[in-house]
Amino acid sequence: MNRKVTIIGSGFSSLSASCYLAKQGYEVALYEKNDSVGGRARQLTKEGFTFDMGPSWYWMPDIFERFFGDFGKKPSDYYHLDKLNPAYKIYFSEDSISIGDSMESICGEFERLQPGSARYLRRFIAKAQKNYQIAINDIVYRPGLSPLELVTPDTIVRVGQFFKTISGEVRKHFKNPKLVATLEFPVLFLGAKPSDTPAFYSFMNYADFGLGTWHPRGGMYKVIQGMKALAESLGVTIATNSPVEKILVRDGKSVGVQVHGTTIESDLVVSGADYHHTESLLEEKYRQFSPAYWSKKVFAPSSLLFYVGFDKKITGVEHHNLFFDTDFGQHAIEIYDAPQWPSKPLFYANFPSVTDREMAPDGCEAGFFLIPIAPGLEDTPQFREQYFDIIMKRFREITGEDARAHIRFKESFCVNDFIEQYNAYKGNAYGMANTLRQTAFLRPGLKSKKVKDLFFTGQLTVPGPGVPPALISGKLVSDLIIKSNKQVV
Ligand SMILES: Cc1cc2nc3c(=O)[nH]c(=O)nc-3n(C[C@H](O)[C@H](O)[C@H](O)COP(=O)(O)OP(=O)(O)OC[C@H]3O[C@@H](n4cnc5c(N)ncnc54)[C@H](O)[C@@H]3O)c2cc1C
Repeated sequence: MNRKVTIIGSGFSSLSASCYLAKQGYEVALYEKNDSVGGRARQLTKEGFTFDMGPSWYWMPDIFERFFGDFGKKPSDYYHLDKLNPAYKIYFSEDSISIGDSMESICGEFERLQPGSARYLRRFIAKAQKNYQIAINDIVYRPGLSPLELVTPDTIVRVGQFFKTISGEVRKHFKNPKLVATLEFPVLFLGAKPSDTPAFYSFMNYADFGLGTWHPRGGMYKVIQGMKALAESLGVTIATNSPVEKILVRDGKSVGVQVHGTTIESDLVVSGADYHHTESLLEEKYRQFSPAYWSKKVFAPSSLLFYVGFDKKITGVEHHNLFFDTDFGQHAIEIYDAPQWPSKPLFYANFPSVTDREMAPDGCEAGFFLIPIAPGLEDTPQFREQYFDIIMKRFREITGEDARAHIRFKESFCVNDFIEQYNAYKGNAYGMANTLRQTAFLRPGLKSKKVKDLFFTGQLTVPGPGVPPALISGKLVSDLIIKSNKQVV
């Protein structure tokens, strides 16, 4: 008889795990607390506008190809991808940089701001490309069970890069602060300060400049829909509005879950819900990590988000826009070192309808604004409004566009929503940061050490935050289950 697996959550990692396990013949049932699948990548639709509620940057297309390829499919079987040009625009206080879709055009921008820097940039990206290949081949597809997994001839010669920071590496050759900010931006996806992120993670710069920024037509949610269709075609059953209330343990082994007071038995449980929350579904004696453990971890930021429908096209903006017109150093201190509402926040504005007509009614613009903030901050309607005012004012000063006068509606999302909707520890947005001490085998493991047949996946475990790592995490946990099952048999 097929072994039964219960999967908690329906984010990228849970959907990924469900596909791999179903392909191997497991009987997979997935339970999601919210009324739609996708987790942090859910979609909001209103008055003809479409918003991705979380991820909007489609980076590392090779990882998506590899995922669908494992099932004999291609991304194009499920969604259409466009490569963005410019990939994105960064606004500083007095000017801006556009990052094009080729190294040649990016080098041109670098030369404009720091003559002679294109030579360094090519060298920096060549090294980043090598790191990317090593990361993909030797690091990110490892289950994080032992430090030895990371020891390969290629990683040994680069061990020094794990003890230098990306910030230090970038500053060696790039003196123009705008170029420094541009090169430090990609590692922000890993959830930590560039000054706390190992230099090896320059592979994110290759992901940025080398592989480019893509957009699935109709939004990132098309990827979720594709994965859901794939999972269902493999026999996975998906139940929404189904919060798991308890993980059931008998004789030290997980035997199922409780949903709406009903017991659902299974041979294995895999949770893609946040790790801290998953353990709270167990009796205390079965939890691996104490409250003190979690409170010492560096969490990735939370976010204050706004989804805004504008009644006209917004001029002078691109699909992705970063407002780096204030001091990131100060904002980073207010996120990581002395958590508080930021005095002068950097922010990100996404207008997918600039390149994709499906995202807003004709003649209108869909806008998504994100301010990174420390997790656990007090979240009130007053704070949200105060920060909306700040960014709208800055938006007008910098772009010359009085967007505020053209708002048809706006919705906001912040710490309290992350907690209430995703059971996120302190309302984090992107899980746990990838600092040196929170990398690979140093992250919470894929397998419980206290409960047999209980597994974890997702952005708090390996390899870390972001959509491509979540896809990989689902594969890693499935491989581990399939391997340990073969050993049992
Ligand atoms: C605002 C924002 C912007 C981002 N931008 C990007 C980006 O541009 N590019 C990128 O690559 N990444 C981005 N990320 C990160 C990326 O979205 C996440 O890393 C990824 O989606 C996490 O997937 P996951 O499966 O680990 O977790 P989640 O998506 O959080 O899935 C966990 C699921 O578990 C469910 N759940 C929780 N508790 C229970 C329970 N008791 N019972 C049942 N279900 C439960 C939750 O509802 C949720 O659906 C962004 C994230 C956010 C929040």
